Amino acid sequence: MIDRRGFLRSGTVGLAALGVAPQLLPAEEQKAAPPPEPPRAPAPARRTLGRTGITLPVVSMGVMNADNPSLVRAALDGGIVHFDTAHGYQRGRNEEMLGEVFKTVKRDSFTVATKVVPPGADRSTGLFGPETKAEPFVEMFHLSLKRLQTDHVDILLLHNATRREGVLFEPILKAMQRLKKEGKARFIGVSTHGNEPEVIRAAVESKVLDVVLTAYNFRQAHHAEVLTACREASRAGLGIVAMKTQAGGRFSKDNPKPVNMKAALKWALQDPCVTTAIPGFTTFDQLAEDLVVLKDLQLTDAERLDLAGATKSAGLYCQQCETCVPQCPRGLPIPDLMRGYMYAAGYRNLLHAKDLVESLSLAEAPCSSCTGCSVHCVQGFEVRPRIEELLSLRRVQDAFLA
Ligand code: SF4
Ligand code: SF4
Repeated sequence: MIDRRGFLRSGTVGLAALGVAPQLLPAEEQKAAPPPEPPRAPAPARRTLGRTGITLPVVSMGVMNADNPSLVRAALDGGIVHFDTAHGYQRGRNEEMLGEVFKTVKRDSFTVATKVVPPGADRSTGLFGPETKAEPFVEMFHLSLKRLQTDHVDILLLHNATRREGVLFEPILKAMQRLKKEGKARFIGVSTHGNEPEVIRAAVESKVLDVVLTAYNFRQAHHAEVLTACREASRAGLGIVAMKTQAGGRFSKDNPKPVNMKAALKWALQDPCVTTAIPGFTTFDQLAEDLVVLKDLQLTDAERLDLAGATKSAGLYCQQCETCVPQCPRGLPIPDLMRGYMYAAGYRNLLHAKDLVESLSLAEAPCSSCTGCSVHCVQGFEVRPRIEELLSLRRVQDAFLA
């Protein structure tokens, strides 16, 4: 394990990482030696984010699970410039932590995206009703700006859209356009990790959204559809950012071995439609791994094999396909619950998992009235034990989870 100082010293930043740092010579030889050839390091791969014109390194930082400002500074030192957060992450502390870093660096040295869920969204349908108004959404966004210690974000996203109607919901769409006009959000878009093709196409249909942040990984059963929708969006000028590239992070709750994160990240970046990906690294070692990808996107045969092997286990990544929902007599929001389980077991972000659970307003023991579970998950998850384990988080005080 390395810290920021070790990370810098290790030479992962810059040329030494590439094995091209000039050799140290005794003083006399240094005098006599001709000046070394300028090292030729591969430039970090950069791509343009659709019609926004913003060019970004292909690897960015998904900040959701991180709470260490030194890690963010190390990411900046290592060449990462784009940071993805959300109003709700760590109950606002995630944006505050970023704000503490951002106030110490030039505003044009980074780009930041934040996401806001409009109050009143119906989680089970993905739709908004008359109780969803623009004002609270705008107020939440202004609070995000304050926490981030900036007068504008580069991208404001409508968070966690799952339906076309949700994306095209006029009060929120118009509010986002107003914020863009006022210069508080340079560009606007939508994030999605369920029913992605419909959401991506709705973003195109809106004609005003500039960016899509979508789940995109080697485990997605419906990946071909996601890919087709991304291509359509890209042709229409939208920028595509990939998330959940590491598909749950781990094989299971009890298996400490992570999915080959480097391979999974490279896999997503093989698609030129994807401008950048936002892996959620939380340690300096993981950052160092991701920075290697920034300079070498080539998937090796061994990495391809690793990914193929990973798809053979059920893993932690829920496809959000909703096949299970009608099979459950209680109509439980199983896709949300399985996503919460992934946050807890895969990302080890227990507080975020608990926040998600509490937003679902479930009964004390919703599975207790069933003698057996009638759900057959397409991914092979045993959903009942996962639900029961996840819901036990409600009995744990926040202080023990943060
Ligand atoms: S739990 Fe299984 S069936 Fe249900 S949404 Fe997730 S992957 Fe699909
Ligand atoms: S045990 Fe299965 S079928 Fe019953 S409520 Fe829980 S998830 Fe639904």
